[in-house]
Amino acid sequence: MFRKFQVTEIIDRTTNVRSYRFDRPHDFLYLPGQYVIVQVENNGKMIQKAFSLSSSPTEEGSIEFTKKFTGHEFSDALKAREVGDELGLDGPYGSFILNEQEKKIVMLAGGIGVTPFRSMIKYSMDRDLDNNIVLICSNKTEEDIIFFNEFKSMMRSSRLSVVLTCTRPSDQWKGICGRIDRTIIKKEVPDFLQRLFYICGPPPMVQSMRELLEEMEIPKERILFEDFFGY
Ligand SMILES: Cc1cc2nc3c(=O)[nH]c(=O)nc-3n(C[C@H](O)[C@H](O)[C@H](O)COP(=O)(O)OP(=O)(O)OC[C@H]3O[C@@H](n4cnc5c(N)ncnc54)[C@H](O)[C@@H]3O)c2cc1C
Repeated sequence: MFRKFQVTEIIDRTTNVRSYRFDRPHDFLYLPGQYVIVQVENNGKMIQKAFSLSSSPTEEGSIEFTKKFTGHEFSDALKAREVGDELGLDGPYGSFILNEQEKKIVMLAGGIGVTPFRSMIKYSMDRDLDNNIVLICSNKTEEDIIFFNEFKSMMRSSRLSVVLTCTRPSDQWKGICGRIDRTIIKKEVPDFLQRLFYICGPPPMVQSMRELLEEMEIPKERILFEDFFGY
């Protein structure tokens, strides 16, 4: 059932990615990695899409989702919303959640697929969980990197490493280039066979990462994934 939430803050993450924040009601309970259905009105019609919560349950004052704009109907209707406007939110839903018992984790993000990982990582750091997380994010360019400063401040903990790769970097980019592949995983995560893998992003990226991990002999049950289908 949709509940009305007033937008309290809008944060530009990149030129085409924005976070929408809302006050968190005391009875809004969720797990890190879960998503909500967001409903927006457009020309008298209600339209809706799924969005992972990029906030962590440890952030008690607010909840947040983060949208990449596409120029399509829902996207444009949302983009027209301002602080003070109301949106319908239904949820939380989903089982793509942080396993708090797992000691060694790898998260593979394709672009906007980083949103549930921001939630899980913030939760892990705030709760001081006994785990070690390697986040590998693939983006088109360095301008497309989402939550860079947030991850940078969380990387003060030795429990978190963030690896960034760009598929279409500028000449200034000094980091890793290309899609996430076997070489990057083996180099950045030498103990990859002992780890639980999470994958999130557009369906083709998720599919190719699943195939790659299976080829690398990661057992199927150690590969968890969320498809941003429709994206
Ligand atoms: C569990 C879950 C969590 C998600 N979390 C996020 C999140 O955190 N952030 C986020 O931005 N998105 C997220 N998504 C995806 C989100 O729900 C939307 O699908 C996405 O944002 C695109 O919506 P849109 O309306 O802007 O674009 P759409 O209109 O859905 O278009 C998306 C793509 O489909 C193509 N397309 C659209 N219509 C057609 C057509 N008729 N024929 C061919 N191609 C077409 C477009 O060219 C475009 O590339 C999530 C999805 C799921 C299932």
